[in-house]
Amino acid sequence: MRFHLKARLKLSRPIDKAILSKEIDDFNHQLMERSEASIEEWDLKENILDLSIVSGTRRRAHDILLNFSNVLSRKLGKAYKVGIRGIDVYLYEIRFSLDREPLHDIVIPFADVQIEGKEVRMVLRDTSEEFLRKNYVDRMIRLVREKVESQYYEGKGEFWKLIWRSEEKDPVWNRDPTEEMLKRGWLVQGPTKGKWFYRPQAAAILRAMERIAIEEVLKPLGFQEVIESHIVPFDIWLKTGHLEGMPGEIYYVCEPRSRDVKEWERFIDLVKITREVPEDELRRNLSLPRAGICYAQCPVIYWSLKGRTLADEGLPLLLFDRSAISGRYESGGRHGIERVDEFHRIEPVYIGKPEQLIELRERLIERYKHVFNEILDLEWRMAWVTPWYLQQAGKTKIEEGYGEGVIGTIDFEAWLPYRGDRESSKWLEFQNLSILGDKYVKAFNIKAQKGELWSGCSGIGLERWMAVFLAQKGLDPENWPKGFRRYLDKLPEGIKIL
Ligand code: ATP
Ligand code: ZN
Ligand code: MG
Repeated sequence: MRFHLKARLKLSRPIDKAILSKEIDDFNHQLMERSEASIEEWDLKENILDLSIVSGTRRRAHDILLNFSNVLSRKLGKAYKVGIRGIDVYLYEIRFSLDREPLHDIVIPFADVQIEGKEVRMVLRDTSEEFLRKNYVDRMIRLVREKVESQYYEGKGEFWKLIWRSEEKDPVWNRDPTEEMLKRGWLVQGPTKGKWFYRPQAAAILRAMERIAIEEVLKPLGFQEVIESHIVPFDIWLKTGHLEGMPGEIYYVCEPRSRDVKEWERFIDLVKITREVPEDELRRNLSLPRAGICYAQCPVIYWSLKGRTLADEGLPLLLFDRSAISGRYESGGRHGIERVDEFHRIEPVYIGKPEQLIELRERLIERYKHVFNEILDLEWRMAWVTPWYLQQAGKTKIEEGYGEGVIGTIDFEAWLPYRGDRESSKWLEFQNLSILGDKYVKAFNIKAQKGELWSGCSGIGLERWMAVFLAQKGLDPENWPKGFRRYLDKLPEGIKIL
């Protein structure tokens, strides 16, 4: 890597060239002892100092510039009462090599990027001191590398490795349960895209799934319930990676600019007169979103523990939330009750010592197997897949060592007979289970009394449980397995409509 920077420092008043020359020589001398870097050229006119810095990988030229400016202002300030009034970096050129040639051009904000073969030349112009202090430059280099790497993964199938599969089960039918429930009036399309209104029969099935998850999986393992907010501020998603991973799937939440009726007077008047939503007036009265609707529940659970030290005696900490409703803008992918924009999940989150979590995963899988084999009697399977945090940070690249059974994500998938035969049709992921190492406890600075702390979570999608159960077992309670009928034996009467 090579960094070349041209900057202009403004001194509070003119100074003798000889004085400055000595300072720069001293600084360069020290620099070169420790790294391959120096202030290469400089020129002083009155109180304006132009200089150019070249450096290698060990220290970035902008870091040297900030350091030089500190040293200089301390020394000149003491001896001559001269200060530094401003720094402008008018050219910053960074050269570095890639592991492989990009497949096509790339563009990033704040810089021109030219790539020849594996050699990158990144040029920034008119950069502020603050920009350099915040170390955007390193992130820009990383972004270029990441974009090139991801060109190699685009369009490639995701990582998938079978762990276990149940025996084959004969489905009672092969119809799409959503269509059938609509026909029977158990379900009505919701008022906006990708939402449903569950009438009593459908609601009873969904709630039965919820009770099963709690009674058969979470309670026996000692999970404690929490209730979280389902409006998630961006700072939480900045930490978890969701904001860069899924900005196109988030349902954004705006606050009103003001609660004052006066501010809303024109809006109200327009509504009264036109009986329509006055969009321009609405926009004037709203703030930009700073939050979104829950995407997954675990980020807010981590946030609630941020900066805390967990007592050893309380580990592993086992929590779950079932109150926050998830919103995801699924757009063209929507289908039935299984891919919706608004869904009900239970999310268990576990935080503990690595060995505790590895053991817990086995016990969770055991309980899940009990539910899917004995209660729902499903044809299903488990597979290692691209880890959750990589998916939701928008990355599909598999990290080294992944899939060897320690850190990673397991998807639970079931056959949907209405999609086709079991071999060639796409099975539906109805839940997942992850151990994520220290990634999220670190992001939220959650600590153990001593030693390493890990975390993980499992996303239990109730619509998905319901979709796979009904797709295999049909809508008639007579055909449902005994285990499930213990939770729901008879459907409610429903609404009589003429
Ligand atoms: P998919 O690949 O199907 O989009 P995902 O990888 O986005 O799923 P996760 O973020 O891992 O899903 O969420 C965990 C669980 O949440 C899923 O296993 C599923 O049960 C549920 N889920 C996710 N998206 C939806 C959706 N659009 N509708 C209903 N349930 C969903
Ligand atoms: Zn999670
Ligand atoms: Mg998804």
